[in-house]
Amino acid sequence: MSALPPAQPVKFPPLRSLDDALAQLLGFVQPIQGTQQVSTFDADGRVLAQSITSAINVPGFDNSAMDGYAVRAADCTQANAALKVTQRIAAGQSGQTLGAGEAARIFTGAPVPPGADAVVMQEDCEWIGDATVSGMVRIKTPVRAGQWLRRAGEDIARGANVLAAGTLLGPAELGLAASIGLAQLTVTRRARVALFSTGDELVMPGTVPPQAMPAGAIYNSNRFFLRALLARAGCEVTDMGIVPDQRDATVAALAAAAQSHDVILTSGGVSVGEEDHIKPAVQQLGHLDLWSISMKPGKPFAYGQIPRAAGSADTVHFVGLPGNPVSSLVTFMLLVRPMLAALHGRMDGAVGPQAIMLRADFDGPKADKRREFLRARRNAQGGLDLFPNQSSGVLTSAVWADGLIDNPALCVIAKGDMVRFIPMSQLM
Ligand code: AMP
Ligand code: MG
Repeated sequence: MSALPPAQPVKFPPLRSLDDALAQLLGFVQPIQGTQQVSTFDADGRVLAQSITSAINVPGFDNSAMDGYAVRAADCTQANAALKVTQRIAAGQSGQTLGAGEAARIFTGAPVPPGADAVVMQEDCEWIGDATVSGMVRIKTPVRAGQWLRRAGEDIARGANVLAAGTLLGPAELGLAASIGLAQLTVTRRARVALFSTGDELVMPGTVPPQAMPAGAIYNSNRFFLRALLARAGCEVTDMGIVPDQRDATVAALAAAAQSHDVILTSGGVSVGEEDHIKPAVQQLGHLDLWSISMKPGKPFAYGQIPRAAGSADTVHFVGLPGNPVSSLVTFMLLVRPMLAALHGRMDGAVGPQAIMLRADFDGPKADKRREFLRARRNAQGGLDLFPNQSSGVLTSAVWADGLIDNPALCVIAKGDMVRFIPMSQLM
C-alpha cells in the first residue's frame, strides 16, 4: 500500500483586527470623481457632490405661525384690548401697514403686515358685536412682542451653507434643497459594481424546483442579498451570475468587468486552501491578498486590484467575500458598505456604524478569540434577546435579528451586562 503524500502545510495569514482591515481598505479608496445632475425628486440615497449655499432667506418674510390676528404689541399690554380689524391676509397674499389700534385677520404662513410685531392665536380673541369684515376684536390676554411670529431667515439665512459636499441625501435633505428653490442637484455618479458568485454547488432559484434539487446542491442566496445591499448602498450593479467553471473564461470575465466597473465583488472561495477559479484568475490579472480578519462571522476576506486594461496603472477594486451567507452579509455590512460610502465621497464614509448600549437579557455563548457580531433583537423590556443559533450558515438569524451585538474578543456576556448593539438600520 503506497503512503499518501505528506499534507501540504496550510499557510494561514496572520489575523488582523477588523478596525485595521477597514482602515487599510479605506486607504485604497479614492472617491469617484464623476458627477451627475439629477432631479431633486430622484436624489434620495445619492451623495451630494458640491456644497450648497442658499440664495434666499427661509422663510423669505416674517410670517404668522398661527391662525389669528396680527397686532402691535404696544396696543395690547393689558388684557382685553379692543382693536379694529382693518384687513384680512391669507397665505400667499400680502397686507398693508397696520396702524395704531388696528388688527389684521391673519392665517398661518401669511406675511405679517408692516407695523405688526406679534400674532395672537384666534383662541385668545373674541369678536365684539357683529362678526363683520370690519368689526372689532377683543384680545383677551396681554401680548408679548414677537409672539407667534416666524422670522425671515430663522430656518436658513441667505448665504448660509445648508448642505455640505459628501452629504448622503435623504428625504429631509431633499425637502431642504427644495425649500431654497433647487429642482436639480449635483450628485456623485453611482459606483459601478460587477457581482460574481462562485461555487459549483450553487443553483439559481427558478431553474430547479425545490423537490428536484440534486444532492449537494444549494440555492444561490448570497446573490440576492448582495444585489439588494449594493442597490441600497447606491451602486449600479452588473450581475455577472455564477462564474464559469474554467480558468480562461474566469480571466476573460474578470478582465471584461474591470474595464467598465469600479469594484468587482464576489462571494465564496476565499477560505484558505479553497479550490476555485477566482483567486488564480485575479492573481493572473492583477494581485490578490487573502485577509484573515479577527471577526466572527466572516474571518476570510480577499482584497485585490485588477488593471482596467492589460498593463494599465489604473485599477479596479476586487473584493472577495466569504461564501457562508451570514459571513458574507456581515462582512459586506462592516467592510464593503463603508468602502462604497467612501467611493461615493460620503463625508461620513470613514465613520463606522454607531452602536448604542443596551442590556443583554441572556447569558452569552462561550468566549471567542475573535470579535463577535451576534445576531440579536430588542425586546419589549428594552433589552436584547439572542438568536439561539449563531452559525455563519444560518441566515434565519439575520432575518430574526434587528441588529448585531459587537462583542469584543474573549468576552462572555452575562445577563444584565450592557453591550454594544448596532441596529440593522445602521448597516444596510
Ligand atoms: P466557500 O466560502 O466558497 O468555502 O463557501 C462556504 C459556504 O458557503 C459553503 O457551504 C457554500 O456552499 C456556501 N455558499 C457559497 N456561496 C454561496 C451562495 N452564493 N449562496 C449560498 N451559499 C453559498
Ligand atoms: Mg465555494
